[in-house]
Amino acid sequence: MSDISENIFRLRAAIPPSVKIIAVSKTKPPEDILVAFSTGQRIFGENRVQEILRKKAQLPADIEWHLIGHLQTNKVKSIVPVVSMIQSIDSFRLLNAVNFESEKAGRITDCLLQIHIAEEETKTGFSIDELLETPGNLRELKNVRICGLMGMATFTMDNNQVRKEFRYLAKCFKDLKDSIFGENEYFKELSMGMSGDYRIAVEEGSTMIRVGSLIFGERNKNQQDND
Ligand SMILES: *Cc1c(COP(=O)(O)O)cnc(C)c1O
Repeated sequence: MSDISENIFRLRAAIPPSVKIIAVSKTKPPEDILVAFSTGQRIFGENRVQEILRKKAQLPADIEWHLIGHLQTNKVKSIVPVVSMIQSIDSFRLLNAVNFESEKAGRITDCLLQIHIAEEETKTGFSIDELLETPGNLRELKNVRICGLMGMATFTMDNNQVRKEFRYLAKCFKDLKDSIFGENEYFKELSMGMSGDYRIAVEEGSTMIRVGSLIFGERNKNQQDND
């Protein structure tokens, strides 16, 4: 058995069956994705629009592609028809653009709101306050379905810090559920946890983990940064 399928089976065995695995395949070739696919894995995460478009054309149609990286508004139109979920909605401007293009395409696009929980300024996302202050914006859009929250913890060896940030994200989820999304039956996903911190994330209530290097091996350092 190949390493990739072994890694997936090991990961599945390590988490509750209710937690979904997003196999983060950015920079990895279609052959690697097919190996993962052969184990039954169907959800793959990518952080670049062009890469999703290229890979989707070469791979089985029943793969669900999740965009997990920062999305520029000028690329919304091309990504909307091909993704199952956009996990990285980090501004109202972007959310409105996704709603607009989804309406034009006759679709409803599943989205997660990305919350800034890390100490690093470089990571993007909403603050909880700006979401709580503008509930109308979130409830009235007809062509986006807000399915929950996504967040990335600080890149650190300090597990207590990571746990604190995931716990905070879980609290944001609960506060938004209580105040804005109580009537929204789709608001149920908490996407948190990567290769280095998925165990902590699951303990803190994650429903979706986004795991790349632990499945596919290390990425080439030069290729892995967001554009
Ligand atoms: C690359 C990436 C991941 C996966 O990272 P690994 O450490 O390789 O598991 C998860 N989430 C986001 C947003 C990413 O960009």
